[in-house]
Amino acid sequence: MTDRLYYHDSFLYDFDAEVREISGTPKPALILDRTAFYPTSGGQIFDTGVISSEDENLKITEVADTEDGRIVHYLETPPKSLQPGTKVRGQIDATRRRDHMQQHTGQHVLSAAFVRLFNILTVSFHMGDDYCSIDLDTPTLTKDQIEAAERLANEIIMENRGVDIRFVTREEAGNLGLRKLPPAERDELRLIHIRDFDLSACGGTHVNQTGQIGCVLLRKTEKVRQGWRVEFVAGQRGVASARRDFTTLTETAALFSAHIYDVPQQARKSLDEIRSLRKQYEQAEEELAEAQAAALLAETPESGGGKLVVRTFADRDMNSMKLLAQKLTRRASNVVALLATTSPQPSLVFAQSTGQPYDMGALMKQAMSKLSGRGGGSKDMAQGGVPNAAGIESALKEAAASLPA
Ligand SMILES: [Zn+2]
Repeated sequence: MTDRLYYHDSFLYDFDAEVREISGTPKPALILDRTAFYPTSGGQIFDTGVISSEDENLKITEVADTEDGRIVHYLETPPKSLQPGTKVRGQIDATRRRDHMQQHTGQHVLSAAFVRLFNILTVSFHMGDDYCSIDLDTPTLTKDQIEAAERLANEIIMENRGVDIRFVTREEAGNLGLRKLPPAERDELRLIHIRDFDLSACGGTHVNQTGQIGCVLLRKTEKVRQGWRVEFVAGQRGVASARRDFTTLTETAALFSAHIYDVPQQARKSLDEIRSLRKQYEQAEEELAEAQAAALLAETPESGGGKLVVRTFADRDMNSMKLLAQKLTRRASNVVALLATTSPQPSLVFAQSTGQPYDMGALMKQAMSKLSGRGGGSKDMAQGGVPNAAGIESALKEAAASLPA
């Protein structure tokens, strides 16, 4: 078993140790007689840092627990000169460790606050690189409850209460009223005591005084299968995320030339305007298509009892071409419309008045095979898109010529 130095002192960032085992598979790794490196467990993620001997410095990329209680330090590169028995010095990335202690102790305070205020238990804890989360065992969670728990947690932080480590037997722990008792594994339990506020069994690293947590900021909440998930950040992460939120909000407010607190109102106003403009636009397009259809039909002579409209446009989208085709073929019962646009997306629309004898779908398929495009449709209406505008005009002419006059 590796002697876990962090059990007794979370602020121990440098330590001396002796190499016990070296392994190369699946990744290069070291086992020491003692270590201050924390292995991923109980929701808290591992430490990183360096292990050095007289001859070399080895970067630690991950730390994990084995089932029999040894701690494995995974290395970026295989060691060159280390042997079992070599004396080494370990150095933990202190900034990363401090961040983890803030998040983890913040979680104890927050979980205890939910119990104190609403008797809501925490069933799991997750620590990520950006944010942390706890899953609460509750069918409902209101905004007021979230704000109250956040307020109480920050009061406990500001009171700078002591955070002590205690070791007790399982039997002793049974009488202490722990918030959380781990499943029976060992006889000795490590307890984390936040003075007059919380007592729970935990093997992680914690700050000495709640003030070192800095702050706890609750963020997204979402319903999960067995309750509610609450995302939070503590310490510098809290400041960093508040800073990021403020920057985003300030940028958004500048777009509206408004104060940040007026952004929701301004955004709602803009969305309403967009909706009403879209309605006006659709109506105008409808009227334009109607007028254009009337003009096109007026200037197209009848031939063989029908009217054939062949037109190529620039700058029309598919929807407005379809709208025009619809208007053309509905205004009279003897119309065939072969329309194309060269931009923004080169495409074709073929349509005929209901009752006309041709097959627009088949005609479109022929045109597409010539233009290497994709499309098709029904007997009366078909559409297709092509990779470029070259050849569109001649394809239209060919389609027109294939219809019996
Ligand atoms: Zn803990």
